Amino acid sequence: MNFLLARINHETNTFSPLPTALPDFEPLYGDAALAEQLHARTALGAFIRAVEALPDAQLRLPVSATANPGGTVTSDARRHLCQCVLDAATDDVTAVLLDLHGAMVSDDEADVEGWLLAELRRKLPEVPIAVALDLHGNVTQRMVDHADIIVGFKTYPHVDMAETGEHAARLLLDALAGRCNPVTRWRQLPLLSHTLRSATADGAMQRAVAAARAAEREPGVLAVTVMAGFSLADMPDAGMSIVVTADGDTALAQRVADRIAQHVWTERDGFVYRSEPTAVSLARAAALAAQPGEGPVLLLDHSDNVMSGGTCDTMDVLQAALHAGLSGIAVGPLCDPHAVAALWDAKPDERVSVEVGNRIPVDAGAERTQAMRRQPLSYEGRVRARSDGTFTVTGPIYTGQRLTMGRTVLFDIGPAQLVITERRTEPYDLGVFRCVGLDPAAPSFLLLKSRMYCRPVFLPISRGLVECDADHGGPTSSNYALFSFQRLRRPVWPLDADTRYAPGNAFNEVPIDAPAGATGKAERPA
Ligand SMILES: [Zn+2]
Repeated sequence: MNFLLARINHETNTFSPLPTALPDFEPLYGDAALAEQLHARTALGAFIRAVEALPDAQLRLPVSATANPGGTVTSDARRHLCQCVLDAATDDVTAVLLDLHGAMVSDDEADVEGWLLAELRRKLPEVPIAVALDLHGNVTQRMVDHADIIVGFKTYPHVDMAETGEHAARLLLDALAGRCNPVTRWRQLPLLSHTLRSATADGAMQRAVAAARAAEREPGVLAVTVMAGFSLADMPDAGMSIVVTADGDTALAQRVADRIAQHVWTERDGFVYRSEPTAVSLARAAALAAQPGEGPVLLLDHSDNVMSGGTCDTMDVLQAALHAGLSGIAVGPLCDPHAVAALWDAKPDERVSVEVGNRIPVDAGAERTQAMRRQPLSYEGRVRARSDGTFTVTGPIYTGQRLTMGRTVLFDIGPAQLVITERRTEPYDLGVFRCVGLDPAAPSFLLLKSRMYCRPVFLPISRGLVECDADHGGPTSSNYALFSFQRLRRPVWPLDADTRYAPGNAFNEVPIDAPAGATGKAERPA
């Protein structure tokens, strides 16, 4: 038996002005990919281990490629990565296992995963195809039509990548052995969820995933996934969906998908994040700083979240904080190579004036009027430290990795100290401040361009956090009304107040409370 395995992962923020090119994926091919992924806690790692445990299996791994979330993928990168998989899809392939994200958009294709699966199906019409997805994938009809098995993560933060791969591989091997006949159906919801509301530890998402797990214990149900989707993708199918793989029974798969979709719709507001005005957030931060306690208040600028396509150079939240009279602020990193170049040779204690930030024009979708177009801000201050910006990560994310932010300066403007770098860097390690000699526990406020990754390292040294969204938006704003979606299906909640969900007749056959072993009333909202 010949197994075709591959990994292509990208979560595309089409509103980010920063394109994602082939080198960003750091693709590995063949034996190099195999060596890297053999022991990895990824879906692909699980696929490899499942196939290698078989006595008579050959494994073909043309490519493993993953890039950090960011802007639209170039058509060159999309063509190259997909072609690697398609070239390996020869007539002697017995089965296909793909580790995909599900929310990849390229310049020339809004649904990269669906395109790849359709092309694979064209080349291998009779071969079973199993797919593992990130729960932030935007599922499409084309993906469901051309995959036999779809299993997505059930956790965010994602700690079950390998379990998801094991699940998909187990179903595929069962199908090859004639032990099951997987069929997949889905139900899409008119619902844009927010990343901060897709965490699976609590709230509406926790209850939805619990319903999915319960449904997986029903006879004939092989896999159930709640897809939170990724909303900063201007493509028709962005948002939430439920995907179900059942054993030969398409009606059952559809019923389960509809039932859980109805459950999600009932809790739709639990998936929505309501941004408050920046000034309100900053007032809460000031109040928190005034209370007894140790450490800084974290100001999380999630309108410019670096790891989901942020430019790392928007200045709105800092400007608002200074306007509100906050002081003792440390900001970092801000990416601005021009400012670094201008400050690099400044003498100690020399007062210098420099323009900082707002260099990269934010996508037109988030900048609806000329008035919102930003300009660099002019500051006067002193350079307190310089560094090559290189350090070893000691925090729990990417521990041990060498990180380089490029040349880095600590620029003191009085009420704030700015860590300005040559490269975009999400602050997921204390090293971003320590490399210029700044103790991150010392300031009153830490302004971080991070929504989630900063938390494991910065929360323990802080007295608390306040999420700050910029009033006029940014490349990763949480206020989706600020983006001019052109290709998204409408109406969709929460953008359109008149959004209705009509699942069709299938749901009416099996109400959510009815079946034994399915979601009980305890999992529904009171
Ligand atoms: Zn994800």
